Amino acid sequence: MQILHTVDELQRVARELYISFEDDNHEAPQVGLTPTMGALHLGHISLVEQMMEECGIGIVSLFVNPAQFGEGEDFDKYPRALEADAALCEQAGADIVFAPSADEMYPAGYETMLKAGSMAERFCGLSRPGHFDGVITVCCKLFNICQPDFAYFGEKDFQQLCIVERMLRDLHLDIQLVACPIVREEDGLALSSRNKYLGDAERAEAPKLHKALQAMDAAFRGGEHEVKVLRGIGAHELEPWTGNGFSLEYLEVADPYTLEVKAEAAPGDRALIAAHLGETRLIDNIELGSEE
Ligand code: AMP
Repeated sequence: MQILHTVDELQRVARELYISFEDDNHEAPQVGLTPTMGALHLGHISLVEQMMEECGIGIVSLFVNPAQFGEGEDFDKYPRALEADAALCEQAGADIVFAPSADEMYPAGYETMLKAGSMAERFCGLSRPGHFDGVITVCCKLFNICQPDFAYFGEKDFQQLCIVERMLRDLHLDIQLVACPIVREEDGLALSSRNKYLGDAERAEAPKLHKALQAMDAAFRGGEHEVKVLRGIGAHELEPWTGNGFSLEYLEVADPYTLEVKAEAAPGDRALIAAHLGETRLIDNIELGSEE
């Protein structure tokens, strides 16, 4: 596996790998890309493993993208762990780790940004204005640099998944987005690089996000489809901690394609939650009435 830091190196090595794969296998390889911000955990690695099962060449990008962090957010303190990340990627079978600097991605004079549409104006977009513009801009740049056939994203960031999918269609990019299931701790907490920020008391409370979503799903399966009622059921699971240094940012049910907020839930809709535990902001979601 190679660790590369510049666009030129990435493109040269990817081309060489492509040609040697073609020569060895007598067929053109499928190229996969898993974009991440590093500080990798088993959630990220599940994406990389799936990519390596499905693609002949797999690239993992590690880039803490300044363009998707707002004023006062955790850009500076976001965990960075290149060596450990690279070791995990190698173990998972990746061919290339692409870890560019901010200057490499946004050199002096850079000024072009993509603008996400209405799907970015709700949920996380309300508290993080401009966040999804930064996300789709860096994704589009990574797609152009790496030229993947498949791009692997986690359902953990469900709104991001929908907005990136929309961008692919709107910009006629011939890349298939692969949505991968959320990997959780045993107590239900979705793995996240930000879980490292949680103090012991916060960590003990954090699984309540998933419990709230599960309660909503259980009620939905039991025949309750009115979203107002489902939200009440979810919020009830959180109650002992709301107002106690912890706060709920949103708890909604949305259409899984358009992300429109629903009043009546249908199978396949997504219940989505964001909450603050002290300084740490966590998100999670669940598919209502899924077969799993
Ligand atoms: P990040 O480094 O947080 O930008 O995440 C990179 C990718 O990993 C995104 O597509 C995330 O949705 C995905 N991801 C993060 N956490 C998880 C998880 N617990 N399970 C599955 N995918 C995840």
